[in-house]
Amino acid sequence: MITQLFINSCILITFISVSYIFILNKNISPNTSLLLKVLVGAWSGLLGILLMLFSVPIVSHVIVDFRYLPILLSAIFGGLLAPVITSIIIGAFRVLYFGVSNASLIALIDAFILGIGFNILYSTKASRKAKWIYSIIYILIVTSISMIILIKNPSILFEILIVYSAAIVLVSYFIFKYLEYLSESVEFHEKLKSEATKDFLTGLNNVRQFKRDFNNFTHQMITKNEYLSLLFLDIDFFKNVNDTYGHNSGDIVLKELAIILKNTCRDFDIISRNGGEEFSVILLDCEASHAVKIAELIRKSVENNNFYISDTVNICVTISIGVTTYPDITQNVDNLIENADTALYEAKRTGRNKVCVYNLNPVKP
Ligand code: GH3
Ligand code: MG
Ligand code: MG
Repeated sequence: MITQLFINSCILITFISVSYIFILNKNISPNTSLLLKVLVGAWSGLLGILLMLFSVPIVSHVIVDFRYLPILLSAIFGGLLAPVITSIIIGAFRVLYFGVSNASLIALIDAFILGIGFNILYSTKASRKAKWIYSIIYILIVTSISMIILIKNPSILFEILIVYSAAIVLVSYFIFKYLEYLSESVEFHEKLKSEATKDFLTGLNNVRQFKRDFNNFTHQMITKNEYLSLLFLDIDFFKNVNDTYGHNSGDIVLKELAIILKNTCRDFDIISRNGGEEFSVILLDCEASHAVKIAELIRKSVENNNFYISDTVNICVTISIGVTTYPDITQNVDNLIENADTALYEAKRTGRNKVCVYNLNPVKP
């Protein structure tokens, strides 16, 4: 029996691990595609079948298995539809493989009752741990009632109930711990991935992601023969903001500026905080005259915005912007960044709060 228990645990752990690689790291939510939910249901059904094939003998002619755990896993990861599919697969296989009998009909009913119960349990706001504990108790209650109906000999019934309950509690404890470990690893991995690409203060792309996007899109633009414009932005006299109102107020201004940029640029433009109080925007398929219009719009929006650094105090800041465009202003993409920077420097040098195009013809604010 110990060998069978070990095999069942190995099957569960293996299935869960493979599922995490291909399905469960997709963050299944109510908006997830129907196909993925059906896949979770079917995959869990397959797990249930495997567990039935490797069922654990307890006394002669009496075997038990862990087929209800896949229905539970299906409810956790697949929402409403998946456990229904899993229940149907497990119930149908039970009837087809072991034949029609009272036991298989009761098993079929159990699969549905459990599927519905797990759905209700997992739609509540209880903690993950509480939901899991209630689910295991629920499995034990439902299966115990079925065993009481099916097994007439009290001593055999008692023995089976004790062994089955102990096995379910033990195996489900390890599965829960393993699931917790996996979900923490996935969360940690997602966090690291986001921190590697996003600026923690504004949520915009960081400079590393800017460079990656810049390289990708410049190559795409060359292949497609399209325009690409680049804006470099820098807050004017930002040091004064920090010195006068404090560093926290400076941070508020940076965050608010990021919101203005998101609201002013087009959805597909790539906005980054390249460092300190310097930002950039990659304008895809955007020729120079349009890029200047967008830059002007950004500059005016910032100039006219009241930056609330507390409930009662608001301040005004301005920005300078350098613009260049491939291929009509900068013919070599390798010079885009340097030229945008030169244009920004020109805007600073000639008075700030203005937009300058790389050809050194400043655009009047
Ligand atoms: P200019 O018009 O020439 O750009 O002047 P400036 O004062 O904006 O430029 P300077 O390079 O002298 O100062 C930039 C300031 O930006 C100095 C630094 O303290 C501030 N800064 C950089 N990163 C952050 C940040 O994350 N938060 C805050 N609050 N300030 C920052
Ligand atoms: Mg500055
Ligand atoms: Mg600067």
